[in-house]
Amino acid sequence: MGPQDQPDYVNAVMCVATKLPPIDLLHCLQRIENNHGRVRKAERWGARTLDLDMLIYDDQLINIPELIVPHPGLAERAFVLYPLFEIAPQLMIPGKGNIADLLAQCPMNELRRLD
Ligand code: AMP
Repeated sequence: MGPQDQPDYVNAVMCVATKLPPIDLLHCLQRIENNHGRVRKAERWGARTLDLDMLIYDDQLINIPELIVPHPGLAERAFVLYPLFEIAPQLMIPGKGNIADLLAQCPMNELRRLD
């Protein structure tokens, strides 16, 4: 996403069990970003030290100014879909469909798996 002239980056996906409601979980992610020295710049998709996004939250569809879930663009981003498929190959993404079907339509391009 965004400018193509940014350095390589590492992306990963994790699944968490939480009692936090979605908005509180978002604030928790933002606190972690800030603690890692994240500075929010005008360039939205430029290189950053750490970017934590909420991809999905259970089977919820959320669309409020501060939080959109499933994350917009999730279905078109190889660097999200491929690692997500590794941990949840049966996943149904609310409003978007089965992850295997989404993956089949999303070429890997320059994505490379780190062992
Ligand atoms: P970013 O620059 O990608 O970290 O975008 C952060 C902004 O996106 C924050 O202001 C969030 O309120 C908003 N946002 C909307 N939906 C999400 C989501 N699913 N996960 C993380 N941030 C989100």
